[in-house]
Amino acid sequence: MAAIDTVAPGVHRVHVPMPGGGLPFSNAYLLDDADGAVHVVDPGSPTDDARDALRSALRGARVASIVVTHLHADHAGAAAALRAETDAPVLLHEREAAALRMLADGIPAPDLDAWGVPAERRPELLAVAVVPAGPAPVTPDRTVADGELLAVPGRRVRALWTPGHTPGHLCLHVEDAGLLLTGDHVLPTVNSGLGLGGPTADDPIADYLAALDRVAALDDGTLLALPGHEDPFTGVGERCFALAEHHRRRTREVAAHPGGTVWETAATLTWTGGWDALSGFTLLSALRQTAQHRAYLAI
Ligand SMILES: [Zn+2]
Repeated sequence: MAAIDTVAPGVHRVHVPMPGGGLPFSNAYLLDDADGAVHVVDPGSPTDDARDALRSALRGARVASIVVTHLHADHAGAAAALRAETDAPVLLHEREAAALRMLADGIPAPDLDAWGVPAERRPELLAVAVVPAGPAPVTPDRTVADGELLAVPGRRVRALWTPGHTPGHLCLHVEDAGLLLTGDHVLPTVNSGLGLGGPTADDPIADYLAALDRVAALDDGTLLALPGHEDPFTGVGERCFALAEHHRRRTREVAAHPGGTVWETAATLTWTGGWDALSGFTLLSALRQTAQHRAYLAI
């Protein structure tokens, strides 16, 4: 697989290797501007492999800005190192900046009492749920507001706030080229998890469904989506509809089995591999997802 390919005039996609054995790569995008500089979107993971891939794709080009769609390490992890090498500012949405500050303070244990988790299943959940305080992977030089046109000479690149996957997720609409950089908001085959920016008072399902509608409305039939993983694709509107339906189906299932607690509801739902196979991180994800749908339904 080529490390870099040109997806539109002056727009290049870099396959950035990802550690961990899940998805094989994330996509960094390089936008050439009219001043001969490059704007990097989602530089990738904080590993030597990732940095080497990006460095060889940049070939010493002048980097004018580093835009991060969301705080996850496979997108934002290399941003601080790239800034140190290039002096380019790091930009992200203000809600993502707030989430980064909160995550740096650590994530406390979820309320397993309120979820109704049996005592014998609590240790495996606490082992994966609690995140100790530590330095944030990156701090932005500037935050970006919803609807803002970024300073990319010769192009019209509009930032769109698309919360759901994380509270301050951004998509970038390259209006002059009919491109939409979707981050992890809309991927061609993978269903992104929701509410993955640390605990907030938000309703990630309601936020996500609204943000899908917003992105779908941009699809005039020719819009090319440039996702954070997998390959560029058209049919963004249809994909948004399918993703919304995926979540609405789950909401209907939760509504049909409200149960007394999150644990009781989760145990009645359909899970890939079955409820009994869930443990540790997959069990925590299942319970969080169930809690989000119950909150969305106000159960
Ligand atoms: Zn990702």
